[in-house]
Amino acid sequence: MRSVGRFAPTPSGRMHLGNLFSALLAWLSVRSQGGELVLRMEDLDTQRTNAGYASQLRRDLTWLGLTWDRETTPQSQRQEAYQAAFRLLEEMGLLYPCYCTRSRLHRIDAPHATDGVYVYDGRCRNRKPEEWAAFGRLPAWRVRVPDREVSLWDGVQGQYIENLARDCGDFVVRRADGVFVYQLAVVVDDARMGVTEVVRGADLLSSTARQLYLYRLLGLPAPKFAHCPLLLAPDGRRLSKRDGDQSLENLRAKYTAEEIVGRLAFAYGLQPEPAPRTPESLIPDFSWDKVPKQDICLPEGLF
Ligand code: GLU
Repeated sequence: MRSVGRFAPTPSGRMHLGNLFSALLAWLSVRSQGGELVLRMEDLDTQRTNAGYASQLRRDLTWLGLTWDRETTPQSQRQEAYQAAFRLLEEMGLLYPCYCTRSRLHRIDAPHATDGVYVYDGRCRNRKPEEWAAFGRLPAWRVRVPDREVSLWDGVQGQYIENLARDCGDFVVRRADGVFVYQLAVVVDDARMGVTEVVRGADLLSSTARQLYLYRLLGLPAPKFAHCPLLLAPDGRRLSKRDGDQSLENLRAKYTAEEIVGRLAFAYGLQPEPAPRTPESLIPDFSWDKVPKQDICLPEGLF
């Protein structure tokens, strides 16, 4: 079967070195197998994303030599597909409206939270439809999760096991403002696009258990997953779009594309020295075995 990978950026800012590395790995993995790469803009949150950032992302990826074969419909235009999946879950009796306020959710004690959010305590799980109207506002919709382990084999991190009931709780699939959430959209889209492998940052590893649960409920084929280590600033902080220094905007002013790719490949152990490289030139030596599990601290002075 031909491998199909994807770039799935959120156009809410410039790329930084961390998400650049995930893109480079997604590219290397698919290109080294002669497969296809699809670009999909994850612009569900129309408040935070815009077409200007999307164009900039395309220009940055092209400048770096990270080519894709086609671009698919952006998520903001796929509401009907998400609605259909939502309806299926509803017909299975797995959805319920949640009226919990943001401040209540922030107060929930969450010792087992897997991604820094909280473990939902099921407060609205058994409310009777008669109670719903009394809130006088639109609810978010949550999917019930079973008290059972979801296990997956990750191409970088190895075995990952999560019990959704214990580690996450019933999770939101549609927000109160009607926006379908990433967890649902990513499953519907990756399945429709025939994606066979998902390569992304390790910060999304815990989301994968939720996504596998949705794949199973919706009867969709799940891809393979590889979660790459995150890039940390030299002082150990996680890089984010707010780290101006490591944003592509600043890096492009100082380095060529080959210098950036070569230094990044060096930082992650894909080559022994920080020599300039094109993405193509890394293909022959590329192997997942070289990609470390642990997050990487950017060596001082490399950029
Ligand atoms: N849109 C997400 C991001 O830019 C990536 C989601 C994914 O790869 O599944 O961080």
